[in-house]
Amino acid sequence: MTIFNFAKNRLFITKNLICQFSNKIMSEMHSVSTLIQGQNVSIKILPALDDNFMYLIIDEKTKEAAVVDPVNPSVVSSAVEEHKVNLNKILTTHHHWDHAGGNEEMCKKFPGIKVFGGDDRVNALTNKVSHDDLIDVGNLKIKCLSTPCHTSGHICYYIAGSGGDSPAVFTGDTLFIGGCGRFFEGTPQQMYTALIEILGALPEDTKVYCGHEYTCKNLLFGLKVEPNNEDIKKHFEWANNQRKKQNPTVPSTIGDEKKFNPFMRVHKQSVIDHTGTNDHISTMAKLRKEKDAF
Ligand SMILES: [Zn+2]
Repeated sequence: MTIFNFAKNRLFITKNLICQFSNKIMSEMHSVSTLIQGQNVSIKILPALDDNFMYLIIDEKTKEAAVVDPVNPSVVSSAVEEHKVNLNKILTTHHHWDHAGGNEEMCKKFPGIKVFGGDDRVNALTNKVSHDDLIDVGNLKIKCLSTPCHTSGHICYYIAGSGGDSPAVFTGDTLFIGGCGRFFEGTPQQMYTALIEILGALPEDTKVYCGHEYTCKNLLFGLKVEPNNEDIKKHFEWANNQRKKQNPTVPSTIGDEKKFNPFMRVHKQSVIDHTGTNDHISTMAKLRKEKDAF
């Protein structure tokens, strides 16, 4: 091999490695990080893995912060540095690896950090919570909502609105935009309670921050259930545009979900007609079974 060919070859290999590296970074970042700036509370949306979301919740008055499901600790560390916050709490929605799998490393990176969750199987758990418990983050009060079904110890975390900020709820794998989680450890009755009686009772303008970017596929399923639902069509178009630009489709609102999420519409005649069931729990069960095979 001549020196020229050797140099050319090295250049090719280096260029190839850079391409592979940047492709990997792009594929790891399924969406761009986005800050939802509020007066009292700001929320940083942090993408992780193929389609997970982590959320940094910042109390603007004290700069204290909590993080929801920090499966990628190095991304969380960078956000903590960027926003100069004091992160001292982890809010775990459920014990699955893609939500709780970063907890141990987070405890090493942030000594003394408290790990909240509703299930003894949550990695590095320090503070077990149950329904209606309150967690302080600076001046913020975060309320725990027990929503068993996807897993038996699943918790959603709710922040009431204040000072012009809308309320917000972090729903893990219970409620997705346009859909819901699989019923791994629970019953259709439990998902009905979670979606209709607990999350559905929150104020309509509550922003919904869920655990995965599944929106487009969920809305396609919604269109199968209700082909004439204009809200689903409109939101599907919007979500597709967001994804083309690598923007996240979170948050939606509880009011929006009642318009385009079939699992929150089990009382609607069009959904009942589609499933051919006459009680709401059976409608929920049939929808989930159909979605599992979609
Ligand atoms: Zn899960």
